[in-house]
Amino acid sequence: MKVLNLQCAHRHDFEGWFASEHDYLSQLARGLVSCPVCGDAQIQKMLTAPRLNLRDGRKNAVQPLAASPPGRASAEAGHTVTDPVLQAQLLRAMRQMLANTEDVGGRFADHARAMHHGEMEPRNIRGRTTVKVALELVDEGIDVVPWPALSPLKETLQ
Ligand SMILES: [Zn+2]
Repeated sequence: MKVLNLQCAHRHDFEGWFASEHDYLSQLARGLVSCPVCGDAQIQKMLTAPRLNLRDGRKNAVQPLAASPPGRASAEAGHTVTDPVLQAQLLRAMRQMLANTEDVGGRFADHARAMHHGEMEPRNIRGRTTVKVALELVDEGIDVVPWPALSPLKETLQ
């Protein structure tokens, strides 16, 4: 299995999984490789991406968080992942998350509550709050998932 870092003409970075380099070239030639963000098929191969250190758990720091509309939260997030294949899958999921969520920063809790109470259009958001507030949100029945720090990911998206 070969994991390649790819980028579309609109500069979206993503990973492609192929049986081999030849498999990648073959699929590319047939137009089967496309950007998961915008569907663009003008793909080029990038240099190897840095690995995320998912064990870097800054337990007491302000946690980046993500929330989904009710019923769409991932039960898997937040677990320590050491398997490289799972790490790659998580990285890919995180990239999709970045592309599909709105960063509301420090207003995370306010937005999560407003959506939960129907005062705001439900959508996928990400942001930051303290562990204490995050636990309060969970107590209130809001789907909140802890999210690894995104700084290494942002570098690869530039
Ligand atoms: Zn794209």
